[in-house]
Amino acid sequence: DVGDAFELLGAPSLTVPAGQGTDGGAGEGTSAAAVAARQELVDVLSGNAVLMNGEGKVGDQWAPWSLRYSGHQFGNWAGQLGDGRAISLLATPHPDDPRTTYELQLKGAGRTPFSRMADGLAVLRSSIREFLCSEAMHALGIPTTRALSLIHLPKLPVERERIESACVLTRVAPSFIRIGSFEALNPPAQMYFLGGGQQAADLDALRVLGEWVARHVLALPDVKWRGDEGAEGPGDAWGTKLVLEVARRNAKMVAGWQAYGFMHGVINTDNVSILGLTIDYGPYAFMDVFDPWHICNHSDQEGRYAYKYQPAMIIYALRALLNALAPLIGAEDELGGKAVSPGWADDASKDQAKEWSKRGTELVKDEMERVMEEACAVEYGRLMHRRLGLRRIDKDDESKFARPLLSLMEDHSLDFHRTFRRLCFFTPSVVASEESLKAFIDSLLELSSEPERLDRIRGHSDWSEWLRKYAARIESERDHWDGEGDVDAAREREAKSANPRFVLRQWLLEEVIKKVETDTESGKRVLGKVLHMACNPYEPWGAEGVEDESGLDAETKEE
Ligand code: AMP
Ligand code: MG
Ligand code: MG
Repeated sequence: DVGDAFELLGAPSLTVPAGQGTDGGAGEGTSAAAVAARQELVDVLSGNAVLMNGEGKVGDQWAPWSLRYSGHQFGNWAGQLGDGRAISLLATPHPDDPRTTYELQLKGAGRTPFSRMADGLAVLRSSIREFLCSEAMHALGIPTTRALSLIHLPKLPVERERIESACVLTRVAPSFIRIGSFEALNPPAQMYFLGGGQQAADLDALRVLGEWVARHVLALPDVKWRGDEGAEGPGDAWGTKLVLEVARRNAKMVAGWQAYGFMHGVINTDNVSILGLTIDYGPYAFMDVFDPWHICNHSDQEGRYAYKYQPAMIIYALRALLNALAPLIGAEDELGGKAVSPGWADDASKDQAKEWSKRGTELVKDEMERVMEEACAVEYGRLMHRRLGLRRIDKDDESKFARPLLSLMEDHSLDFHRTFRRLCFFTPSVVASEESLKAFIDSLLELSSEPERLDRIRGHSDWSEWLRKYAARIESERDHWDGEGDVDAAREREAKSANPRFVLRQWLLEEVIKKVETDTESGKRVLGKVLHMACNPYEPWGAEGVEDESGLDAETKEE
């Protein structure tokens, strides 16, 4: 019980009536009713009050709840992990789209039945990081869980390396089910961890979860369900379809990470969402100087989750999902499209079902990896085209333009996002004269983090080769821009809308956190502004045409 000792730090999508002792926010209500409503909202979103109807239910749901999950951490089976500090409040249809359900979940509101030895709390610093980045990712078009509100509990101390204060983040997603949720119900066989002995599989629960996810969370089309007319046994082949859909969605997500230089840092299987949403913002970072080997997580010594390995680590997680589901899939072919699993088969057919499952799972594995790699390449290609301001898709664009561009950034220690942003201003006419080409290349080399080590002669020859090819490529697709007036201007506009002016960088997060920790009032103001920029990353912050290094508007920079 923390009573009224709270600060509502922000609520991007909520209109909250203003009350005593709190930030004014969007609303202005000061009547007793408005104050009470606001207090009730803050109580619920800080975990101080439980929202329930008379029978302890919200709609049809019991509330609140936490969900058990396990997972592989850094490639090792870790047993039960969560929900250690996540508590869901309710699931409700989206007001504008009744087919989509939104689940509201508190992170850091205290212990759950799955907290193990930990306190169930989250600190201000990590909560601000998640709050800002989930909205920043959404604004970049990368699938993610969202942030609804952030409430600071300055009087609730939390013991970490030093004493910090608590924060409760409310996050929102159609579902928070992860690959680890499936693994919890069918743990790998070899495991005797922490002296806890073998964990038992619960194949019935696994089936219930799988059917629920396939039917309600992923809403897979063309699946016949148990009890549906014409369906036999457990329903047909949803297991394979589920795995392939999860692969497709996570492929799209990780393609977004790669194209926008986002590094997650902890792609453990419990942090990989069934919906392909970026989830669990821990030691994440956006790329500064392009370095494919960059590791943003200090405790990841081997670089398992380095930028370059992210797609491979998603495949690793998908394999864990397939392993968990293996007993339920694989026999489709033999039964004319109907799955039979060792999980339900009668004793006589159990061995047969096991055999089918093993063979089928092998097939699904190849198909799953193919689907993942293809979907990832297609989405990455689409995004890189947008970043390069290109419309026609040529097969060799990746090898001819994207990859050499990244090598150039790497060779000359150039900032990833600023290089893309600068290229928005490139026009084919730049290569028409040696002088203008040289000036443009200079403006790129200016972005080097190590100007003193820069080999300018090599820099110029490397870049002029790439820019000449790029100019020719742009020229070759002029007819794709017919009817849009000044093609160069149209291309610049389009490229700018795909290359953020504002990037939520590490140093900036550090500054914001320090500010909130030392001075709540001005901290809240800066937090609000940074949130606004993170939500509108393509705006021309600062004077038009002048590309300020920080990407901040002048006033915020001052502050
Ligand atoms: P992560 O590496 O962030 O995915 O953390 C692994 C799991 O540890 C999470 O899923 C949480 O359930 C749990 N956990 C982390 N911090 C805490 C905490 N302070 N209290 C309880 N559980 C926690
Ligand atoms: Mg986690
Ligand atoms: Mg975490």
